[in-house]
Amino acid sequence: MKTIGLLGGMSWESTVSYYHALNVGVKEALGGLHSAKIAMFSVDFAEIEQLQHEDRWEEAGEQLAQAALGIEAAGADFLLIATNTMHKVAPAVEDTISIPLLHIADATAEQLVQDDIICVGLLGTRFTMEQDFYKQRLIERYGIDVLTPEQEQRDVMHTIIFNELCCGKIRPSSREKVVAMIKQLRESGAQAVILGCTEIALLISRQDTDVPLYDTTQIHADAAVAEALSGH
Ligand code: GLU
Repeated sequence: MKTIGLLGGMSWESTVSYYHALNVGVKEALGGLHSAKIAMFSVDFAEIEQLQHEDRWEEAGEQLAQAALGIEAAGADFLLIATNTMHKVAPAVEDTISIPLLHIADATAEQLVQDDIICVGLLGTRFTMEQDFYKQRLIERYGIDVLTPEQEQRDVMHTIIFNELCCGKIRPSSREKVVAMIKQLRESGAQAVILGCTEIALLISRQDTDVPLYDTTQIHADAAVAEALSGH
């Protein structure tokens, strides 16, 4: 089995989901007492969040690249960055390490393509919904149209992520707001919606809506398990 490199802590609330999903995935595949081999580095998210909101992405990229080097030195065969947003600095991380990066948008897009989804809604932080690093990858590399909510709703989603979900607060009133956004994306033509922030699945699950949901945390973890077990 290959060793999975996990760069987490962004936020730790969703890194818990990754740790769980990776181990469940390996256990389901191999049975018995099998569990995932993981080399992990977990950052202090307050430092990263400050760099994000002060638009200091280069410094954030340097910090993650250093952390990733440590993960490589600890024996990881490939790397996961356990957040959608910080894939904005994926190129800086990839340039620094010599193990491959399993990109969260690629794992998600491959699933969408397999399911014949050509128009998808995207929920995530403002950075993920508004900037090109994520959306353009889906559009250019996979030919998938990406719809995002209106400005006001994007702000609401961003605030729910940083002020509630990353702090471990799960509020039914916020669930209702996000369910309404999903419904609206569907009415605008999205065949499905990407939960493009690794904490959103802490709030929303399949039972909350008829619209097909693509949970990036689960998809990324599943892809990592498949990669870890490939060749075995
Ligand atoms: N975990 C979130 C994501 O997947 C947001 C936290 C962050 O900004 O990294 O985008």
